[in-house]
Amino acid sequence: MERRRIEIRGIVQGVGFRPFVHRLVGEYGLKGYIKNTSSGVELELEGEEAALEGFLRALPQRAPRLALIESLEAEKLPGPAGYTGFEIRPSRADARMDTLISPDIGLCEDCRRELLDPKDRRYRYPFINCTNCGPRFTIIRDVPYDRARTSMGVFPMCPDCAREYHDIENRRYHAQPDCCPVCGPRAFFLDEAGREQPGEAVEQARALLKKGGILAVKGLGGMHLACLVDPPEIAGELRRRKQRDEKPFALMCRDVAAARALCLMDPAEERLLTGPRKPIVLLKKRDPGSLAHLSENGRLGVMLPYTPLHVLLLGEDLDALVMTSANLSDTPILYQNRQALEQLRGIADGFLLHDRDIQTRCDDSLYWVLDGKEYPARRSRGYVPFPVRLRGGRGSALACGAEQKASFCLAKEDSAFLSQHIGDLKNLETLENYEQQIRHFERLFDVKPSLLACDLHPDYLSTAYAKERSRAEGLPLIQVQHHHAHMAACMADNGLEGPVIGLIWDGVGLGSDGAAWGGECLVGDYASFTRFGSIRPLPLVGGDLAVREIGRLAWALARDAGCDTGAWEQRDTWEAMCRTGLNCPLSSGMGRLFDGVSALLGIKTRCSYEGQGAVLLEAAAGDSEERYPYELSGAPLLFDWRPMIRALTADRDRGLDRGLLAAKFMNTLVDMAAESCLAAAKETGIRDVVLSGGSFQNIYIMRRLLRKLERLGLRPWRHSRVSANDEGLSLGQLAVARAKFQKMESDGTCALRYPFN
Ligand code: ZN
Ligand code: ZN
Ligand code: FE
Repeated sequence: MERRRIEIRGIVQGVGFRPFVHRLVGEYGLKGYIKNTSSGVELELEGEEAALEGFLRALPQRAPRLALIESLEAEKLPGPAGYTGFEIRPSRADARMDTLISPDIGLCEDCRRELLDPKDRRYRYPFINCTNCGPRFTIIRDVPYDRARTSMGVFPMCPDCAREYHDIENRRYHAQPDCCPVCGPRAFFLDEAGREQPGEAVEQARALLKKGGILAVKGLGGMHLACLVDPPEIAGELRRRKQRDEKPFALMCRDVAAARALCLMDPAEERLLTGPRKPIVLLKKRDPGSLAHLSENGRLGVMLPYTPLHVLLLGEDLDALVMTSANLSDTPILYQNRQALEQLRGIADGFLLHDRDIQTRCDDSLYWVLDGKEYPARRSRGYVPFPVRLRGGRGSALACGAEQKASFCLAKEDSAFLSQHIGDLKNLETLENYEQQIRHFERLFDVKPSLLACDLHPDYLSTAYAKERSRAEGLPLIQVQHHHAHMAACMADNGLEGPVIGLIWDGVGLGSDGAAWGGECLVGDYASFTRFGSIRPLPLVGGDLAVREIGRLAWALARDAGCDTGAWEQRDTWEAMCRTGLNCPLSSGMGRLFDGVSALLGIKTRCSYEGQGAVLLEAAAGDSEERYPYELSGAPLLFDWRPMIRALTADRDRGLDRGLLAAKFMNTLVDMAAESCLAAAKETGIRDVVLSGGSFQNIYIMRRLLRKLERLGLRPWRHSRVSANDEGLSLGQLAVARAKFQKMESDGTCALRYPFN
């Protein structure tokens, strides 16, 4: 007989973990107890050594769908304690619970079967859920997590549901949002004027869709606008009413087969699409020219129905629906019934709503799959608020992120809680939501930050927020250079300590020298960095205007390279601006180079959203291994793109296929990147290369560059848990601020002790 104490950390509460352990203990004939602790669960078990070993092997393999075991430690205890059975011990009521909050999870197969079973008491009930699925993060108002502190608090359980809730053998044991048609929320349908219509809500919504109407439907983290895929005029009308530019619309497909009819899918993409988190997956179109009214590039964002309401809405006959977040231009996603009825008037022809409140906005997550592994564009629903672990992290801190793709990151010891997608802080409602969410996270995770971090840019509203809090609460604030933060984000994403080579390509970020950076090769670690290489700056003719009107960049590239600049109407004005430098700042932004080349190739001369030129350039790329000439020289190592621009415009003027030119351009960047990294590696002996920044949301370049760096004997690292764009920046800021602060502390250059609390 042996006795063991087992401690398990991770998401192991409210996910059916204790009932699962109860069954497994029975199978192995063990005795003892289990109880919830502040960081997970604790077990004490005794029995034959072989049975204990078997149990410990089976536990992680057979754990419930939503459980996430971060660590499992088993310790031998002296002699048996003489347990006579297995009991679930109550957790101490006064203990501060510090366990993780689960993200929202898509409908599970068991619930789906019951939903569609006429004999089940929840047949066609749109709010069916269990410990393996359903809303979590978006309905939580406060902690500790129990029904009373969620949106379900106003729905007392009926006796049938209560019986399931208390039955350890039941799939709904301790499922806080458990409910049924007798006791739970209800769905209703309202017409375009907001008048509730009698009858079956889902059927009315379906009838509206089939007539070609636009439906507002309430999901887990906010409202969507939905309509038929065909005929294209319907989506066109939706675009017109929503005043949506050319940004792609996502699709919700009935099932994998329906998704496969439109898109190509490898096994990893299928796993992500059908898995419990249900993100939008960016898939290659089967026919690149198809569905241009939904997406003008070669990919489609596809998700599967993730709530029971969605399953009923698509029914047996609707293979796919256009599904786009319900918001107006840059405002945050709508999430309250009344607000939706007011603001979507004139946009939606009908509303499929319900009375389970959303407490926290959470947009759909958006992912690529790159070499069989997740590559996030937007990490939100289904992922948030699960933390990233920062090895050795101490104390509490808040990093305030960027501005346009804002996020924040709240750290408590080694857990970094990264916020959901927030949006552009220049919009007032978005800024308010940002501030509210920071407070919400601080309460949920019981953190009072003792250190603040933000960008160097004085005009970012996140910087203003950080400065104000630093002043009001007397907290130390560390401002982190933008590209250093990107580099650190990718290091933290991969658990690297450094030093590393950081290849950081994005649109723009304020450099340490006050200039606009954006095509950087850095060398360093969390605490510090040096700028090893960059790219020849190009003039942004008209400043911010050049971000949208990218024809200006094409003109500037051609002018600088000494090529024919073409017949631009405003060329004289631009020439004057360039010569005087008036309203014509220099930028070494890689995003701008992409945009400029996109315009040079005639792909796009005016963007309706940031990065459009680059996205379409990637989509246009044909098959080629050729590249253009370039120069790489000096210290910092400067990429001179003028030879490339000269060769590219010559190719263009010879009338060569622009797909070929787009490919040659990107191949040139891959070669230049590899050569820069190799030079940095030779000089420093460092072999780890992290790739971050929004310009690396280019799968064509990523695939080739990763392979190329490996072939050169370097170790490339890329994001898999946070986005490469500015949304991931807060994680990096946090890691840098902590490292800098600890360094100041050990150098004795800082009077404050860290951590303060
Ligand atoms: Zn379920
Ligand atoms: Zn009930
Ligand atoms: Fe950036």
